[in-house]
Amino acid sequence: MSESLALQGGIPIRQTEFPAWPVGDATEEAALVEVLRSGRWGSTHGDQVAQFEAEFAAAQQAEYGTCLANGTLALVAAYQAAGVRAGDEVVVPPYTFIATVSAALFLQAIPVFADVDPETHLLDPAAVEKVITPRTRAVVAVHIGGRPCDLDALTEVCTRNGVALVEDAAQAHGASWRGRRVGAIGDLGTFSFQSSKNLSAGEGGIILTNSAELNDAVYPLVNVGRTRDGAWYQHDHLGYNLRLTEFQGAILRAQLKRLPEQAKRRAENADRLTAGLGEFPDAIALAPEDPAVTEHARHLYLFRLRGATAAERDWFVSALQAEGVPCSPGYPGLHTNEAVRSRMTELLRAADRPEAAFDCPVTDQLAANTVWLPQNLLLGEESDTADILAAIAKVLRNR
Ligand SMILES: *Cc1c(COP(=O)(O)O)cnc(C)c1O
Repeated sequence: MSESLALQGGIPIRQTEFPAWPVGDATEEAALVEVLRSGRWGSTHGDQVAQFEAEFAAAQQAEYGTCLANGTLALVAAYQAAGVRAGDEVVVPPYTFIATVSAALFLQAIPVFADVDPETHLLDPAAVEKVITPRTRAVVAVHIGGRPCDLDALTEVCTRNGVALVEDAAQAHGASWRGRRVGAIGDLGTFSFQSSKNLSAGEGGIILTNSAELNDAVYPLVNVGRTRDGAWYQHDHLGYNLRLTEFQGAILRAQLKRLPEQAKRRAENADRLTAGLGEFPDAIALAPEDPAVTEHARHLYLFRLRGATAAERDWFVSALQAEGVPCSPGYPGLHTNEAVRSRMTELLRAADRPEAAFDCPVTDQLAANTVWLPQNLLLGEESDTADILAAIAKVLRNR
């Protein structure tokens, strides 16, 4: 039997859509109407955002949570609360969303790239160790795809060097490391509630911490410089207004109730995919299982095409998409981003400091051979996972 790829005019393996994202129903509708009718639309008057902050902090086993406009500004505020100032260095992985890095640049701090692990795509603690200097203020652990970084090793490096550990957990709602939920294992952790994320209100974010002091430092940044118990027009600090609306708070509370069931489904389907992809050991490489990763949030399902060039990977992604499976080549590596590089160069020159190094060979390799499947593909039935595997098998047979 001859089969031709959908890319070449053949019949796609998958002819129907995968589960839609985000999902909401009469529960969210009722919650929105209730806020509307209450007349308390802002979090300065209502309690939806405050309730959600407490509920999400509890879900992530953190003492404190402060909601704010989005994950990007959550990073800016977290870095600032951690003491990052102009000229300081913030150690970041190059394999991440741009906000991890641009948030440092907004504060006129210098991002310093530490390369990632070749199998997990996550910040490599040994690489972090090598780039820490007396100017380093913070290290940012980005839990890419929802898999926690090695928080034991990163905590150790940060504690020994007296620098803050910030978790960028924008992709890691519900993830845990050695049985402890992420977000407040480091000094501060940030999450995003943007449309694509595993918990969403369209937009939004939160900062978690176990430190009352850091939590107090976040408050004025979100609330125009106010202090928690100060008078309305008492602004002891300079701060932005980053507050969420009560509409977002109400949606997030309803969505949070759905998260455990969705997380279970994603985990089950991810395990099925992992078992199925194990049939192609010569073509496909997966991150090794790690017993310390007790919950993987499965925001993205990542795999690598062994030995593939970027062109071969891009062809594979087009072919798989044509078979009806949404997928992406993922991040290009921020050390290659011109906007990032030129701002870094500008800041370093102005301070009369040596040029930055943009040498991240592991990220270069991963940026060329990685494929991402988005989390909504994992929200369906066993038959959906079977279709994904059949489509991957077909594309591999016809490479
Ligand atoms: C989504 C994301 C952000 C930014 O969050 P927004 O809410 O979109 O601003 C930051 N870091 C990572 C790793 C992300 O995936």
